[in-house]
Amino acid sequence: MKKISFFIDGKEVTTTEGKTILEAALENGIDIPHFCYHDSLGKDGNCRICLVEIENNPKLVTSCTTPVMEGMKVLANSEHARKGRAGVMEFILLNHPLDCPVCDKAGECILQNYSYDHGYGHSRLEYPKEHFPVKDLGPDIYLWTERCIKCGRCIRFLEDIAETGELGFRKRGVKTELDIFDGVPIDNPVSLNIVDICPVGALLDKDFLYKARVWDLKSTESICPGCSAGCNIKYWSLDNILQRITARSNKGVNDHWLCNEGRRTYKNVDTEDRLVRHSLKGGKTVKLDEALEKLINTCETYKDKEGAGSIVAIGSPYLTNEENYLIKKLFGDNLGAKVSLFPARVSGKDQSFGGGFKIKAEKAPNYKGAQAALGLKNDNFQKIIDEIDKGSIKCVIAFNGDPELNLDASALKALKKAKFISLCEPHPSELNKTADIIFAGNMPAEKDGTFTNDKGITQRIRRAVYKPLDSEPEWQILLELAAQWNQECKAKHPL
Ligand code: SF4
Repeated sequence: MKKISFFIDGKEVTTTEGKTILEAALENGIDIPHFCYHDSLGKDGNCRICLVEIENNPKLVTSCTTPVMEGMKVLANSEHARKGRAGVMEFILLNHPLDCPVCDKAGECILQNYSYDHGYGHSRLEYPKEHFPVKDLGPDIYLWTERCIKCGRCIRFLEDIAETGELGFRKRGVKTELDIFDGVPIDNPVSLNIVDICPVGALLDKDFLYKARVWDLKSTESICPGCSAGCNIKYWSLDNILQRITARSNKGVNDHWLCNEGRRTYKNVDTEDRLVRHSLKGGKTVKLDEALEKLINTCETYKDKEGAGSIVAIGSPYLTNEENYLIKKLFGDNLGAKVSLFPARVSGKDQSFGGGFKIKAEKAPNYKGAQAALGLKNDNFQKIIDEIDKGSIKCVIAFNGDPELNLDASALKALKKAKFISLCEPHPSELNKTADIIFAGNMPAEKDGTFTNDKGITQRIRRAVYKPLDSEPEWQILLELAAQWNQECKAKHPL
C-alpha cells in the first residue's frame, strides 16, 4: 500500500493511502473525539463530533469519513474546529439528562470526558428537555433512552457482528429514540458487547447495575477461562470480590468482543461451596504440609511396592501451562508415574459471528497448552481409565480445575475404584467424597500463569483477587510439594 504523509496541527503523520484522517490520527496516538466511529464497526459519520478544519477549506469536515491526501494540513484544534465541535456537543447534550452522579457509566463515559474537553460547560436551551422512558431490552440489558446520543454503534454491532439486528431508531428529529422491534428482545449470546461499546450510559448490563462506582474498582488484564478461544478480558474487583468482566481488545484473538457466557464466569469464583481448607477423607481439615506429607508417603509406598506404573497424575485443561508442566515434572519425570489429562467439557458446536468472532464448543481455556506441557502427543485419558478399571493403576493424583467436572458415569465409576485418590480442586466435584486427600485449589482469577488457546496462542493470565483462606494456586501446592519431597523442578519454560 502506498504511504502518504500529511500534517495534523503541524505534526507530520505517515499512513497508508485510503485511511481517513481519524484513522491516521488514532494510529499515531493523536486523539480526535469520536462517538460513532469504532475501528471494528467502521465509519458512519453521523455524530459529527470528529469535525476538523483542513487548511484552505472553508467548511469543517468529519475526520472519520475524509480520506487523507499527500501534504494535507489538518487543523484539529483551530478555533474554527473547536467551535464546530462545541456546537455539536451542545446539540448532543440538548436533551441529555446530565445524570452522571447516578449513571453506571460515570467514570468511563466518553461523553462525560468530551463534554469537559470540547463542550461549552452550559446549555442555552430555554425549553423543557424531552423525556424518554427506561426500557427493558431483554434478559441482560436496560436502555436509558434519554442518555442515548444516537451514535448507532449498538445497531451496527447487532447487524454486522451478532447478525441478529434487534435494534433500530424510531421517529424523527428530537423525538428519535432507540428501540427494539415490538416483542423481540435482545437475546443473543454476544449481546453484552453493545454495553461495552456504547460511548455513554444508555445501555447497561443488568448484572452490574448500581453495583459499584468504576473508580472504586480494580481492573486486571487476563484471559477468559470460559472456552478455548482465549478472549482477552478485564476482571473488575472491589474489596477482593469480582464484580464484572469486560472485553479487552486483541485484534489477533477476539477483536473487541466477548460472549455473555464468558462475562459471567466470574460468578464461579466467590461461591458458597468453594473449598477453602485442605482435608482428608471424612472431612478432617489439615495444614498443607501435613496433606503433602501423606501424599509423598503414599506415592513412595506405591512406587516401592507396586512400581511407579501403578500411579497416574492427571492434569487439567483448566490449569495453566506452568501448573501442568509441574505435574509432569514432579510425577512423570521425577517419580516415573504415568501422566494424563482430564478431557475438556464440550457444549454444542462452535458458534461463528460476523468479523470472525467465535464462541468455541470446547469449554476449557487450555486444553492445547496442557497437552503440550504434560508432554502428551495424544489423548490417553480413556486408556488410563481402563487401566484404573482393571486395577493396574491403583494410585490417582488428580488435578481438577473445572468448576463442574463433567466425566461420564463409567469414567467416574472407574476412578472411584482406585485404591488411593489425591484430588486438588477449587469446588467439590463428584470425586470429592471418594478422595483420600483433598487439596483446596484456586480459580484462574486467583492466579498468574499462561493459557494456550485453540489456535496455539499463549497468553498471560493474571491474579485479580486473592485466594480464599487456606486454598492455594495449584502451582504453589506443586512447588511446596517439590520442596518437601526434595525434588528438583527448575527447568526452562515448557512451551
Ligand atoms: Fe450509541 Fe449507546 Fe445510543 Fe446505541 S445506545 S445509539 S451505542 S449512544
